[in-house]
Amino acid sequence: MLRSMRYGEADRILHLYTPSRGRVSAIAKGVRRARSRFGGRLEPFFRLQIELHEGRGELLTVTGAQTIDGHARLRTDARALDAASRACDAVGRLFETSEPHPGVFNLLCRQLALLDERASEAARSTGGSLDPARAAQDRAAQSGRAGALAFRLKLLLAAGLAPQLGACASCGEREHLVGFSGAAGGVVCPACEAGSFPLAEEAHSFMAQALSRALSDVPEAAAHALGQVERAIAATLEHHAHVRLMPAAGSLS
Ligand SMILES: [Zn+2]
Repeated sequence: MLRSMRYGEADRILHLYTPSRGRVSAIAKGVRRARSRFGGRLEPFFRLQIELHEGRGELLTVTGAQTIDGHARLRTDARALDAASRACDAVGRLFETSEPHPGVFNLLCRQLALLDERASEAARSTGGSLDPARAAQDRAAQSGRAGALAFRLKLLLAAGLAPQLGACASCGEREHLVGFSGAAGGVVCPACEAGSFPLAEEAHSFMAQALSRALSDVPEAAAHALGQVERAIAATLEHHAHVRLMPAAGSLS
């Protein structure tokens, strides 16, 4: 589930991402009553087996739900919750139609499971004196942002918008790729850099590695390089999908 909103007296409208019919909206009637038959099973970021009834309108009705994974550890960690909500928001905005993308569904399930695993690791590693704890938090924030950006790059790939990284996206030059252009759709050489912004080697290699590795194997990069990666993703989405995402990581992380 991507999102849940209160509706009327006791209902909720749910935004769901499904493997077979993309993003759908459904109403869960009476779910906010104390003795709802859905219990606590309809919560954001849950992975669910859900039964939907299709009426005449666009809105489906939830008739049954079972939890496959509630990601309990994630729910106790503010940073992981924030990251989960940003991941779900990105999927909802980039894949907002009923066109099925089972790969995107799997990617989101994997990302939520990873956030859940890492939330429990973070909980174990807290403790000790203040300074090392602070440094560990900064490291966690940095790797959280790297993980969020790697996830977004894989979403771009699934949307058919993966940036061109091997050669200048305008002229095909293979050397001296110094900038990134959202309009051109990838890295550019000095001759084609109009409308681009500088892209450090470290940011370039982060993107190439994130796209070729497993989601769990997040590449490392310094904060300024991650900033360039985020800008490259935003420029690509703005030019080719007219979509804007919220920042990859919040002030919490
Ligand atoms: Zn060029």
